[in-house]
Amino acid sequence: MESLDLSPADVWSRLLERARLELPDQTFRTWLEPTEALEIAGDTLVVGAPDRFAAEWNEAKHATLLAGFAPVALGHPIKVAFRVNAERQTRPQMDFFVAAKPEDSAPVKAQQRARSAPLNERYTFRNFVVGKSNELAAAAANAIAEAPGKIYNPFFIYGDTGLGKTHLMQAVGHAIFQRDPSTRITLVGTEQFTNDLITSIQRRTTVDFRRQYRETDLLLVDDIQFLKGKETTQEEFFHTFNTLYEAGRQIILTSDRPPSELTGVEARLVSRFQWGMVADIGHPDFEHRIAILQQKAEQDDLESTIPDDVIRFVAEHVRSNVRELEGSIIKLLAYASLRHKPVTVDVAREALRDKLRASEAAGVVEEQQAGLTVNAIQQAVAREWGITVDGLRSKTRTKTLTVPRQIAMYLTRDLMGLQLVEIGSAFGGRDHSTVIHSLEKVNEMLERDPTAANRIGRLRGMLASLRI
Ligand code: ADP
Ligand code: MG
Repeated sequence: MESLDLSPADVWSRLLERARLELPDQTFRTWLEPTEALEIAGDTLVVGAPDRFAAEWNEAKHATLLAGFAPVALGHPIKVAFRVNAERQTRPQMDFFVAAKPEDSAPVKAQQRARSAPLNERYTFRNFVVGKSNELAAAAANAIAEAPGKIYNPFFIYGDTGLGKTHLMQAVGHAIFQRDPSTRITLVGTEQFTNDLITSIQRRTTVDFRRQYRETDLLLVDDIQFLKGKETTQEEFFHTFNTLYEAGRQIILTSDRPPSELTGVEARLVSRFQWGMVADIGHPDFEHRIAILQQKAEQDDLESTIPDDVIRFVAEHVRSNVRELEGSIIKLLAYASLRHKPVTVDVAREALRDKLRASEAAGVVEEQQAGLTVNAIQQAVAREWGITVDGLRSKTRTKTLTVPRQIAMYLTRDLMGLQLVEIGSAFGGRDHSTVIHSLEKVNEMLERDPTAANRIGRLRGMLASLRI
């Protein structure tokens, strides 16, 4: 066998060469670049990852894919297993910077810093329901709570509004504070940071301002997209960031978009935001919405008052975000109690009239559509990817069309279980081998691209709720 002559490092670099071509750049850099081949044990290549979280994530998401490259890259199969590389617990980029935390320079404080906004007591890990749409972000947050400043610094969470970014960021704060109440936590919105800075410049107290933000163990900054166009604030934040980072203090940032799309923010900041872990939170799918609603009901000890069919009804119709889900439950209960009515689907329909209309207007599929049809799937996919249904059904093979077309075929198969030939004919008369190829492509995408997987999962959830 050829690989008998190859060192573990050679074998790994051959597999990585392929992975670099196949995986999205961000995924490759975050997960695979910081790894190292350790040994070949029997038929398994053992690869070291910098920490437990990275090892588990790689094992779950990438091991099979990587092993799949072996026959071509090496000429024979090999298994791939990940484990923590004990000799290199920190990431290479951190080795130069992690300074020992001065043990006694910080007076022990039983509370958060006076000028920091308080953490919201509801925003804990316990109250955070994990599903496909937030799986990566939640796992990373947990890992960071266990080892702040050590593994993923900064931690950058992005996603649409109302999906749990602030909640998750604060959950890390709670967990760290619980373990070590002497931790100095600073929680600030980007606008507050700006306002504080302006005030301190006016009052000539910038020294205090700097001390406040730089002498902290955990800095949580919400909605960093508001740095846009604010040059002085960016300059100040740059120095705050560097001071904390170099001292090995954890920084967590949230944003409504990924670092690469933060226009109007200096490149040196954007690149720092990408140094650690960047994770997105997507829209929860139908099952995830149900779980969130059940958790909300339980949390408020309302389990007995909201029957399952009502929860289902709300999960089916309120799809925009988690904040809306919460709002719907509160509104429904208030409505029912004011009118002394039981909580039923009919009452929910009355109580949530405006929200239901809003979700129709946001319209995933045409409204009158009864049940789930191929047409509904095509419309939903076309809308999501900003293309036309005709484009989906056409023979055109540009990338803008092929990928959504493959996804639409996949969803048709998955949700409706149509025959391959039927799917082929619904998509411009393609033969069954083309359909098989499309399904395979999407399966690969689901495996290796968490962002795409979220997007597809979200769409799937919305469409699944149309099934009668
Ligand atoms: P964002 O900061 O992304 O706009 P928030 O963190 O403010 O969103 O979340 C909005 C509301 O939804 C909060 O009340 C939060 O507790 C709740 N929420 C969001 N995601 C979840 C989740 N996965 N499980 C439970 N509650 C959630
Ligand atoms: Mg927020």
